[in-house]
Amino acid sequence: MKAKNMRLAGLDRFRMVAAFLVVSIHTSPFLSINGTLDFAFTRIIARVGVPFFYMVTGYFLLGGILSGSKESCTALRNFTIKTCKIYGLAILFYLPANLYAKQPEGFSKLLKMLFVDGMFYHLWYFPAVILGVWVVWFLLKKLSPSCTFIICVALYLLGLLGDSYYGITEAFPLLKSIYDVFFAVSAYTRNGLFYAPLFLVLGALLSGRSPCTRKSAALGFALSMTAMLIEGILLHTAGWQRHDSMYLSLPVCMWFLFQRMLTVKGNVSNRLPKLSLLIYILHPMMIIWVRGFAKLTGLQNLLIENSLFHYLAVCLLSVTLAVFVVMTQRFLKSKQTQRFAKGRAWIEIDLASLRHNVSELRTLLPTFCALMPAVKADAYGHGAVPIAKALWQVGVRAFCVACAHEAVALRKSGVKGELLILGYTHPKDFPLLRRYHLTQTVLDLAYAEQLSQYGRPIKVYVKIDTGMRRIGERSENIENLMKIFRYKNLIVTGVFTHLCVSDSLKPDDVAFTKLQIDRFYETIKLLRSEGCTIPKLHIQSSYGVLNYPELSCDYARVGIALYGVLSSADDDVKCSIALQPVLSLRARVILVKNVLQGEPVGYGRTFTAPSDMTIAVLSIGYADGVPRALSCGAGHVLLHGQPALIVGRICMDQMSVDISHIAGVAPSDIATLIGTSGQREITAMGMAADAGTITNELLARMGSRVERTYYNHL
Ligand SMILES: *Cc1c(COP(=O)(O)O)cnc(C)c1O
Repeated sequence: MKAKNMRLAGLDRFRMVAAFLVVSIHTSPFLSINGTLDFAFTRIIARVGVPFFYMVTGYFLLGGILSGSKESCTALRNFTIKTCKIYGLAILFYLPANLYAKQPEGFSKLLKMLFVDGMFYHLWYFPAVILGVWVVWFLLKKLSPSCTFIICVALYLLGLLGDSYYGITEAFPLLKSIYDVFFAVSAYTRNGLFYAPLFLVLGALLSGRSPCTRKSAALGFALSMTAMLIEGILLHTAGWQRHDSMYLSLPVCMWFLFQRMLTVKGNVSNRLPKLSLLIYILHPMMIIWVRGFAKLTGLQNLLIENSLFHYLAVCLLSVTLAVFVVMTQRFLKSKQTQRFAKGRAWIEIDLASLRHNVSELRTLLPTFCALMPAVKADAYGHGAVPIAKALWQVGVRAFCVACAHEAVALRKSGVKGELLILGYTHPKDFPLLRRYHLTQTVLDLAYAEQLSQYGRPIKVYVKIDTGMRRIGERSENIENLMKIFRYKNLIVTGVFTHLCVSDSLKPDDVAFTKLQIDRFYETIKLLRSEGCTIPKLHIQSSYGVLNYPELSCDYARVGIALYGVLSSADDDVKCSIALQPVLSLRARVILVKNVLQGEPVGYGRTFTAPSDMTIAVLSIGYADGVPRALSCGAGHVLLHGQPALIVGRICMDQMSVDISHIAGVAPSDIATLIGTSGQREITAMGMAADAGTITNELLARMGSRVERTYYNHL
């Protein structure tokens, strides 16, 4: 299986195209040039837009059930909640337009609009995607994928008879009367029952298989699109169409189009999906605005009569407003700095970014592979308990820690699920393993013996050393490994190994990693052939996932990537996913003072002011996790969105920065050590590089003394 994210870029980009196609359906750009051309473009070609959105949803959301992902249920719930929220906001946005246009008469009409047809003409998309996703989810749970597919095809065919093929229905009075009853409930068959399921299931099916080649996808698309054009024109001339959303050739067309987009490689962005969704939601309002503006200024000829200009104006305005919304969101996020400010120094944890990273990582992994996040070292300085709880909310059910005391602290705060201790536990702490239902790693045969001597059953994972030469029984010692399996008191949950150069893409490092992977699976095969039962397997940490996502494992022990950063900024990884940093570090300015030329600043007189300067003293020091190696200009902080170099040595509790070039800095202002301030950002990776270390060390040492504040809870 290839890494899924290699294909994400194409999906993101075509989502934008799809949004503009939908705008064209509602504006008829070619109408003033030629009616048939416009019909062919907006009522046939552009009809790939909405199905594409559905397929993306099916691909990411429903693919998981196909392969029995444990997290698919939570994903479904979260998707439903999120879609309802977006629909709710969109309803509010169109409330004035609705009130102005016409009130739906009666309560039942209102219900019909809310749940089926959409509270504004294009908003039908949201109730339909929810219904469709639930229908397909239910079918996939109960039936095989092929049965589900057949049912969805049948539903689609029924839908066709109320859409482009209504001419047939009209020929049979009984059939027509049945459809008429249906149309009293739903204005169109292009809805969550007849239309959405097929595209959702097509997306789900594609998530489990490699796409066909670029060439065959393009050829398949070209042929089916030609067929659809012919089909559409014929149906239109025959006067069969009651509506023109559904064609026989459309699903075939989508099947190839989607695969063509899966083969597009490139970097992914967080903004494109947001922008395309916003354009979809906003454009009808922009049509109203453009028309209003044209009437006010007397520019009807240009902006309304000329359909192409009309279309372009609507697109431009929609994009502008969408960009504005995204920027406003960012601005509000930066304003949160004020809202979350604490006394002297603090860490801000953005839980939405954490969840975002979870879903990004999940898209890379095969769906049967679940996350087992590393929440050791207080979740890399992020706070183990709140992080574990936030992860639980998005379906994570297993965690790993370094030692028994970290695990016990999590249990005492109510964290459930599997807790794996990756390292050494002293025999005096063995009772904790049982009392708190922890899973212990078997370090080697001798340690297995110690564990077994405790005398009562203990849940364990057997660690195999495939080449790192740290903990684990050597992979070639099959006899020893089998002995471990035979201890009566050891309940073996699974087996794992750790890669030592999975972060490197150098050919000989890749070869070594492959050797480790081969040794691992070879050992597993041998053990199984000797009758050992091995329920679970895992290999990858963050870089393992980013560089070898295709491995077939039950878990991935992700740490650093989950927190939105890499170990070092210039690491190349095979799959670049759009991770978002979760942690920001900030401190107060406590004093602003002038220093005269020639005066030393700080311990050791290592820094002497080259000229008169202004410095700000910050209430944060190395005891708060700021590496002392950043002293004397090696590092900087951000103040009022501008960089300020660190002057003198960093102390245990304070440090000073040069603010001679930044006007208006005053005590109580907020300095950013990690995070964004205005248009600038210091990443943990940048700070780690300045300090000559890796992000993992920087974060793991952070935060024992500073307060943490969490926002964007679910
Ligand atoms: C810490 C740790 C991880 C997580 O590593 P990251 O590089 O932060 O993803 C995974 N496995 C083991 C054994 C670890 O010790």
